[in-house]
Amino acid sequence: MHLGSPSSIPRLWILDLDGVIYRGKERQPYAREFVLHVRSQGDMVRFLTNKAAHSRDEYAGLLTSLGIPTSSSEVMTSGYATALYLAENGAEGKTVYCIGESGIERELAAFGINVIRDGELPNAQIEYVIVGMDRRFTYDKLARAQKAILKGARFIATNEDPTLPVENGGLLPGAGCMVAAVRVATSVEPLVVGKPHTYALEKLMDSTDTVPERTIVVGDRLDTDILAGKRVGARTVLVLTGVTTREQAEKASDELKPDLIVETLGDLLQCM
Ligand SMILES: [Mg+2]
Repeated sequence: MHLGSPSSIPRLWILDLDGVIYRGKERQPYAREFVLHVRSQGDMVRFLTNKAAHSRDEYAGLLTSLGIPTSSSEVMTSGYATALYLAENGAEGKTVYCIGESGIERELAAFGINVIRDGELPNAQIEYVIVGMDRRFTYDKLARAQKAILKGARFIATNEDPTLPVENGGLLPGAGCMVAAVRVATSVEPLVVGKPHTYALEKLMDSTDTVPERTIVVGDRLDTDILAGKRVGARTVLVLTGVTTREQAEKASDELKPDLIVETLGDLLQCM
C-alpha cells in the first residue's frame, strides 16, 4: 500500500484511541514512537474516538500523561462531533435529554445547548435525546428517553460500539448497548454521529484542509474505523492490538477490508 510520502502537502493521520494508542490505561506498544515520528515528518495527527464519556480536554490530558503531548484541538470525540452536529442544526438554546457521562454534557453545554441528565424531564419540549456510553445507565433513564422520543424528540446516538476493550484483553459493554435499549423501547432508529458514519472524519479533513487522498485512518475495528475511512475515500490501516484478529480482517468483505494490516504501530513505522 502506498501511504503517500512526506512532501510539501502534509498527510493527515486520523488515529483511533482505544485499541490503537492505549488499551484501558496502558499505552500500546510503539504508540508514542509512532505519533512523534509522524509529527516529525511534518504530517498532522488527529485522534478520533467513538467514546463520548470524557471531553476533548480530558483525552488531551490523558494522551499527554502517556507521553504523547496533545492539545484538545487535536482530539475529536463522538461527543464533540455530536455537539458540533447539533449546533450546525440549530440546537443552540434548545433542551436535550442526555444518557451519557460528564464529557458529552460539557461539550454540549459549550455550544449553549441545555442538557438534562438526571431527574424529571421538564414540561418544556425536549428537542433531542442523545444516547452515549453511560456507566450509570438505569431503567429510569431509559424510561425518560422513551417518553421524550415518543413525544417527538429526535433520537441521536454518539456511536453504536457494542464493546469497549479494556486492560488485559478484556471487554466491557459499549454505548451500543444503551442505544439498543432505547431503540427497542421506542421502535425509533437513531441518527448515529460516530464511526462508521463519516461526519467526524469530514470535519477533521475540513478543519485541516486535507483531501481524502492525503488522509490515512488507523483503527482496530473493521465495522467502525475501517468502514468510516473507506467511506470518505481515505487509506485505511488496521492494527491488531485491539478487538479485531487477522483472521477476521482477512475474511472481511471488500467494504470492510483495510488497505494494510499491521501487528503493531511499530510495524507501521517500518512501512514508512
Ligand atoms: Mg478502537
